[in-house]
Amino acid sequence: MGLGFCWATFAFQKHENMTNKTFTMIKPDAFAAGNTGSILKHIEAAGFKIVAMKLTKLSAEKAGEFYAVHKERPFYGELVEFMSSGPIVAAILEKENAVAAFRTLIGATNPANADEGTIRKLYAKSVGENAIHGSDSDENAAIEGSFFFSAFEKI
Ligand code: ATP
Ligand code: MG
Repeated sequence: MGLGFCWATFAFQKHENMTNKTFTMIKPDAFAAGNTGSILKHIEAAGFKIVAMKLTKLSAEKAGEFYAVHKERPFYGELVEFMSSGPIVAAILEKENAVAAFRTLIGATNPANADEGTIRKLYAKSVGENAIHGSDSDENAAIEGSFFFSAFEKI
């Protein structure tokens, strides 16, 4: 295999990751309320394909690591406590322009500001307990997907 071929393969995979995939978590509030099935149905109906999925529970340490970007924010402690309070469902989703399309599907961080029909409008209780996570960039989608899934677990 020549170096040129390797580079082309790498570039293609990078391109695929950058544009077609996002990462999501159904948060502890939505899981506890029994909304997992309804939310997954909503996601699939919007044309997202599930390419990896698991039910798990985050330790406070892991939740803190996942949301480390918010370490200095006043709500960080509350966020870590909430995200480690119960089971979550983590998944990698595939669709064209996945990150932006999924952020539109889930709606604004605060459900009070979320558009009608969005997942947060339908299932979230508050800005802190807002039912679902969606990656905010292609780069973070790749990082977050790899936080939960090994290459072996991604279809
Ligand atoms: P997520 O990253 O979970 O998809 P987001 O990108 O819409 O949410 P961020 O600004 O990244 O919003 O905030 C991460 C999470 O921190 C929010 O989803 C919410 O659970 C929590 N959070 C954000 N702002 C507040 C706040 N003002 N008070 C309490 N919790 C908050
Ligand atoms: Mg975010």
